[in-house]
Amino acid sequence: MDINGNFNSKILVYDDYSIVNPSELNKRLQGLSEYNSHYISPMKSTEWISILLEGEISSGQWKYEDVIYFSTKEDFDIWKKKVADFDYKNEDEYKQEILKFGGISVDSETLNNKPVKTISDVVELEGLYTELAKVRPFDEKRLVNFSKSFGIPIGSLIGLGDDGTQDGIICIQFSFLLPLYTELTIYRFIFNCWIALKSEDENLIKGIEDRYYKAFDGQTITFMGEKRTIKKSGTKKTLIEIIISFLNAYDYIPNTVPIRYEAINNSVKISLNYQDLLSVAYHQLIQAIVKNASFKVCDNCGHLFEIIHEGRRFCPPLPGRKRSTCENTFNQRLKRKRRSEQNPEESE
Ligand SMILES: [Zn+2]
Repeated sequence: MDINGNFNSKILVYDDYSIVNPSELNKRLQGLSEYNSHYISPMKSTEWISILLEGEISSGQWKYEDVIYFSTKEDFDIWKKKVADFDYKNEDEYKQEILKFGGISVDSETLNNKPVKTISDVVELEGLYTELAKVRPFDEKRLVNFSKSFGIPIGSLIGLGDDGTQDGIICIQFSFLLPLYTELTIYRFIFNCWIALKSEDENLIKGIEDRYYKAFDGQTITFMGEKRTIKKSGTKKTLIEIIISFLNAYDYIPNTVPIRYEAINNSVKISLNYQDLLSVAYHQLIQAIVKNASFKVCDNCGHLFEIIHEGRRFCPPLPGRKRSTCENTFNQRLKRKRRSEQNPEESE
């Protein structure tokens, strides 16, 4: 990550994470409340759920509706299968919708273990923003796998560090899935806009511009119980204008100002303190956009990764690993293939 400043966040990752069904929410949050009881006074899970839901209301609600505009076609097709409509929902409807989809949290089996992995070296996070872009909305398996490597990307509950302080500690123990998928969709949209721009593929670019134009203009929405039609502006935004207006609308990017200052050797330095992984990923993405970073397609999984080291053919290693998982998988497959070519009968 090419940022002018010291990365001063510490990411704490647990052993395992799992999806929490709506029916299990109470039990899991009760467990989390007891687990954190040395920092916060224990409360009933129902009380906690309502506090967490309240926290999702402010920005989450309008972001949820904006998935119509800020989504790739592929992601929006997935959303359409999962939710009936994005019409303006009052707060209670939105809360019910959130509860319906459940959450992701530290696995209850591992709950009494301390976080097993600490990521404080920025080099280990090299692949974070391209790895996050692989997680499609509603893909539970991938979300759990991502979380095992990096932690839950963003959530309602931020845990505390060993010393009971929260400064610079990223440790999310729980997140409702619906707001999380909303954030992921928006993140993937802007990531893919930029990839399309770089690809110079005219069809791809035109596809995004057309969809965005249609979504914004001439659409009838219900707002505060009143039907309104968004006026056609007549001018279509180009892809680069879409990206710029997104980046300038700071509300979309969570916790964008991670900058603080610290004293090192009697001089003042910039210190970057993030609150969640999604902010780190956005920061990396913006850096990559601004410096016009180059990409390669991974020989194993077909996803994109940033060329930081020349000659690399695979996605970068995940935190705590020396070698790329994609490289390992690729080599194993190659070995198997060679073996079966040498002994064709065996593989039958
Ligand atoms: Zn890969």
